[in-house]
Amino acid sequence: MSIRKSVWTVVVVAAVGLGTGSCGATAKRPAPPPAPATAGEKPLRTHENLNATLWMQTSVEYRASALQAYHTARLALDAALADPRWTAAVEQTGDPGSKPPAIVLDLDETVLDNSPFEARMIAESTLDRPVPYDETVWRRWVAEKKATAVPGAAEFLRYAASRHVTPMYVTNRNIDGADPQKDKGAGERDTIAVLRTLNIPVDGKGDTLLMRGENGWDSSDKGTRRAAVAEKYRILLLVGDNFEDFISVKDTSLAGRDTLADKYGDWWGSKWIVLPNPTYGSWEGAITLGAPQNDPAAALARKYAALRLAR
Ligand SMILES: [Mg+2]
Repeated sequence: MSIRKSVWTVVVVAAVGLGTGSCGATAKRPAPPPAPATAGEKPLRTHENLNATLWMQTSVEYRASALQAYHTARLALDAALADPRWTAAVEQTGDPGSKPPAIVLDLDETVLDNSPFEARMIAESTLDRPVPYDETVWRRWVAEKKATAVPGAAEFLRYAASRHVTPMYVTNRNIDGADPQKDKGAGERDTIAVLRTLNIPVDGKGDTLLMRGENGWDSSDKGTRRAAVAEKYRILLLVGDNFEDFISVKDTSLAGRDTLADKYGDWWGSKWIVLPNPTYGSWEGAITLGAPQNDPAAALARKYAALRLAR
């Protein structure tokens, strides 16, 4: 989850004058972020991530999207197994036909549902004190081992195991815990434990878990780790919720990401299976690109400016 760069803020919306999305209908440019409520106006307690988190936690539409993704993954897996030249990774070179098959999956919001962590940050935020994302707090959440399974993930992974396909988890969870000195390796142990509790296939020694901070893998970029998997395995599918779960992205601008995604347009749904995640991801960083670090007002202003209004 360390891809998250921006700091979330609680948005104070005056009860009068600002609805959802209608405020800029006649303006050429989006309105700036709403000012704090003044005396006499009743502030609405809302949060940038409220709707997105509720959608993931409560909607049939999210659940169906995840089931749809894993149903597609199952069909794609069968097709990939039948074609020895098939590979889903741009990092795979040469003829992979003689290598054993594997699938590469991200963990958070792909296999594991951490929405209670999101919900906690929203619930604990107040109008004057928003709770920002914090890596140490995140690692404490990992240690709680309360993540659940994304709908369809466990069933798909057990199907893959039945076809003798190895799941390789390439995750930006850190191998260590909240205190890197005291909790050496705790991130790996806790992640294996939660996967096992959910009856999701994982190697007990962590050999199928390629984590950040392990083996010199200090970058959030996953290309090196996909290449390491491709050395030993034929990669049949990539499954993730973030663009970088599929390919290393050099041009991280919105236009650059669109161009690269379109270049591999035929791979979506056949080699690359994407799970919906509207709560965080590199898509958000692409919007706030260039905003000063630790300046939530600047990041929020860039989001308003990114709204696409009718011309
Ligand atoms: Mg993820």
